Amino acid sequence: MTKTTISVAVAGNPNAGKTSVFNALTGMKQNVGNYPGVTVEKKTGTAEGSNGTQLHFIDLPGTYSLTAYSQEEVVARNFILQDKPDVLLNIVDATNLERNLYLTVQLIEMQIPVVVALNMHDIAVQRGLHIDCDILGRFLGVPVIPTVATKNEGLLPLIKAIESHRHNTSALDFINYGTALTPHIDQLQTALTEEGQSNARYLSVKLLESDGHEQEELLRGSSQASTHTQFVTDATQIIEKDAGVSASTLIAEARYGFVAGLMKEAVKEGSTKTTYTDAIDKIVCNRILGTGFVALCIYAIFYLTFQLSDGWEFIPWSGEDGFTWTTPVGVFAWIFEELLPSFAPKGDGAFASFINDGVIAGVGGLMGFVPIIFFLFLLLGLIESSGYIARIAFVLDRILKTFGLQGKSIMPLIISGGIAGGCAVPGVMATRTLREEKDRITTMLVAPFMNCGAKIPVFILLIAAFFPQDQTLMMGIVTIISWSFAMLAALVLRKCVVKGEQTPFVMELPPYHVPRITSIFRYAFQKSGSYMKKAFGLVLVVNIVLWALMYFPRLDTDAYPDASEEELAGLQIQESIAGNIGSSLEPVSQLAGFDWRDNIALLGGFAAKEVIVSAMSTAYSMGEADPGDIEEQTTKQPLSQKLANDPNWNPLRAFAMILFVMLYAPCFVTIAVIKKESGSWGWAGFSIAYTTTLASIVSVLVYQIGLAFGLGL
Ligand code: GDP
Ligand code: MG
Repeated sequence: MTKTTISVAVAGNPNAGKTSVFNALTGMKQNVGNYPGVTVEKKTGTAEGSNGTQLHFIDLPGTYSLTAYSQEEVVARNFILQDKPDVLLNIVDATNLERNLYLTVQLIEMQIPVVVALNMHDIAVQRGLHIDCDILGRFLGVPVIPTVATKNEGLLPLIKAIESHRHNTSALDFINYGTALTPHIDQLQTALTEEGQSNARYLSVKLLESDGHEQEELLRGSSQASTHTQFVTDATQIIEKDAGVSASTLIAEARYGFVAGLMKEAVKEGSTKTTYTDAIDKIVCNRILGTGFVALCIYAIFYLTFQLSDGWEFIPWSGEDGFTWTTPVGVFAWIFEELLPSFAPKGDGAFASFINDGVIAGVGGLMGFVPIIFFLFLLLGLIESSGYIARIAFVLDRILKTFGLQGKSIMPLIISGGIAGGCAVPGVMATRTLREEKDRITTMLVAPFMNCGAKIPVFILLIAAFFPQDQTLMMGIVTIISWSFAMLAALVLRKCVVKGEQTPFVMELPPYHVPRITSIFRYAFQKSGSYMKKAFGLVLVVNIVLWALMYFPRLDTDAYPDASEEELAGLQIQESIAGNIGSSLEPVSQLAGFDWRDNIALLGGFAAKEVIVSAMSTAYSMGEADPGDIEEQTTKQPLSQKLANDPNWNPLRAFAMILFVMLYAPCFVTIAVIKKESGSWGWAGFSIAYTTTLASIVSVLVYQIGLAFGLGL
């Protein structure tokens, strides 16, 4: 017997629990959270059915409607129309039933079998909402199954319903579109049915709804497209004259009317007590208090990250004088600064330098930050899955409106590292949630200013070396500075480069959820895992290339008979290929206080920002006299200490470097994604040019003004 495969598209409003249901059904590891961007990508997974069938699931982007206003709506609708899944699994949020059913009605109209999962059933029960699934199912003509995705409840009945209803489209023509519309819908439907269109009813309604837009796309398969287009144009004019409003308004009203009626039939409200969500929102969404909470939250994230990773000593350890306690960073530092170097080859050959300076110093320089990355993402996962991140967006929205960026731009910025430790790649992709091309481009161009997870180690390195007393405060300041630059750049771009009107937008506030500890830990492990993978992969490769450029050509030591070991090591690296490249840039970079070593590291940072730290570790490690006296010097100095002790470094130079790293060109991958998402190399090139120009101007100005005020001595 061959296996039957059923393709199931999972559709629903954002935050209805699509991803949770999808994960529970397919067991695929994914993040569960509230980022609108996360579900834009198409995700698939399979599950075994009950009697030998195979279910193939596709997680569609979250949408409120299928009217093609946003990218997600277009993506979801086109997938359903073109790929024709066997079944649509509609995830409905039981606590927001009315708004969710508005989409359900549209899905059912597409004449594809629909199964409804009434999700968040636990919360509905908690709130005393009584929803009658049988009545709901009867009116809609589709099975309605209560589920609690986070507790795996109702999944088996869901699979059964998918299997048994996969050939049953709802027989309902349930929506009465009224006297002004119905004759036109019927006429169009007849014509399309004669032509052999399978979902003629849906197409007819859709064509009248579309106000002349996207007809071409809808009628792609039709042999008489122009006749239909003409019919629709005439009909919409007649309807508007008869009813006084547009056909699309009438259609939306008819749907809302149906849903409102259905609500009355199927839902008995329990006691209308105020929910926790409402009570908390009164405070955290308040104009003044809310802003304070956001600031407090960001401060707490950094404070706890620093304390948990390298402040509180809670790991039992055996130190030099017996039993002690240490921090996670202490453990990682021990591995990469003591344990591994003790196995490495010694001496001054090329191989020893390759292993010690190129590999261990480079990768080890980054590994020290793994605990920081881990705890940072643990805390971010916590606020993300609790639902508080939507409130942060809500509060920031009001501040940001002033700057020509607003609403949906905030999530892409937060994903890019707006709070700390994101990544501009998914951030730029998340701009797809924006309706307006102009908003998208502007957001895409400023998102890379945010402090992504790769820049964080650079900032922490420099802050630890030069502002050791104020680490949390400095990270807070860095966060504010990056938002300020993003806002200013958006304002200018909006005025000069991408002009256009702002679009209105209502911010969503999903209910709070008690975060699930397991999924938060999984998220943090995934994030720090991919950070380590990158350090041992791409970053290591780039770093090895940089090492070779710093190692060759070898210096003729006989030419310097009087030089000490120390001086020779310094001369060698300065006379290397990389040394020469870095030095040739010094006349300019010196204006910002950067020397040739910084230049090499910053150039390497184009490939990936992680390279900045690894390349500096390597450069400073090679510049030392070779580690022959390893007995005496058991612990190698960490890079931050070397910088702090280096007479050429000072807080001003460190600050200028922080600003440069914050603002200069996005990494290669981000550039590629900007190209892909904007559809042109022009914007990608512009993005490199304007960010690097801005970074140079800002860091030079800060350094020069600082010098003039006598700082940086
Ligand atoms: P999506 O945007 O539709 O993919 O929604 P998600 O799957 O990301 O879920 C949004 C939030 O709701 C997450 O915090 C989930 O943990 C939570 N959630 C999902 N399903 C349920 C449920 O049935 N009950 C409860 N209490 N929470 C749920
Ligand atoms: Mg999702």
